[in-house]
Amino acid sequence: MAATADQNHSAAPWRGAGSPLPRLLLAEDSPIEREMMQQFLQQGGYTVDCANDGLEAFAKITTNSFHILVTDWEMPGMNGTALCRRVREVDLSGYLYILLLTGHGSPELAVDALGSGADNFIRKPVNPPELLAHVNAGWRIVQLERSLRSANEHIRQLTVTDALLGTYNRRYLDEELSNEVDRARRYDHSLSAVMVDLDHFKNVNDQYGHVVGDEVLREVAGRARSAIRQGSDWIARYGGEEFVIVLPETPLAGAAATAEKIRAILAHTPVASTAGPLKVSASFGVSELVSSADSAKLAAASLLRRADEALYCSKLAGRNRVTLGNS
Ligand code: GH3
Ligand code: MG
Ligand code: MG
Ligand code: MG
Repeated sequence: MAATADQNHSAAPWRGAGSPLPRLLLAEDSPIEREMMQQFLQQGGYTVDCANDGLEAFAKITTNSFHILVTDWEMPGMNGTALCRRVREVDLSGYLYILLLTGHGSPELAVDALGSGADNFIRKPVNPPELLAHVNAGWRIVQLERSLRSANEHIRQLTVTDALLGTYNRRYLDEELSNEVDRARRYDHSLSAVMVDLDHFKNVNDQYGHVVGDEVLREVAGRARSAIRQGSDWIARYGGEEFVIVLPETPLAGAAATAEKIRAILAHTPVASTAGPLKVSASFGVSELVSSADSAKLAAASLLRRADEALYCSKLAGRNRVTLGNS
């Protein structure tokens, strides 16, 4: 092998600032060929880990994260196509591009190689620049898949987020509360909900305008967010100036304590707005999941209904208070 990656190809010319290092696994049972390909690929900008056979490669793929697999076909234990099939059956965190190294070339072999889940194949003996060119093409596909996945995740976040408040929205609440009910039932945990509605909020809009009303809503959501258990409790905007706080693994009394904490924070510290400090308060209704034979969806609806009824009682009783729903 005379050529090196540095001489004939600029190392990793595709790599933009902030891109991850491309991680490649090389499965090859011949030590000489493995060493030669490893060196060339490393010079080409890849972080290369090696496996001596298919079984070792499979174990590494399922316990580490690689972007590209270059695998020999003929290997003891598990061969290249069997490895491809097994890899395609497992759920990996991102797409693994597979390049198969084949001993000879025939149409049947191409069908076998691609049919087993490989993305492409090249013939042995390997020509190093050709190998690197194929691996670079694979890396472009992996990057494309990564950017599509992150764009999808971003869109998913947008569809479940309230644009004004940054909390979850009603759509997310409707989807996710049933999942919370399922989880609570499966692990025999408690689950509570708090319904919050600002008091006389219409007056704020009427007196100071909607822009100031929006500022107040944002501040209230922010205060509520800081008061809940991070990582497990979450907030959704139910509509207008109403929120639902969902508290997994929390019984009624614990949820009531959280509601009381938020009530006190709001009532005691005026909200800073462009119209000056404004006194705001909110009313709260708290409910807890009760055991029933209802579907998760119905149980979730009942949880919200009972929180809403309790909230209504808080309003009737004079506002700025927390009422526990009857379980
Ligand atoms: P109560 O104590 O009975 O809840 O009185 P309230 O005035 O808060 O209740 P009501 O439901 O009658 O009015 C809610 C008001 O919330 C109506 C609307 O002007 C205001 N509101 C709802 N959504 C928004 C919003 O996104 N921005 C602003 N600025 N105001 C909103
Ligand atoms: Mg071999
Ligand atoms: Mg209100
Ligand atoms: Mg309301």
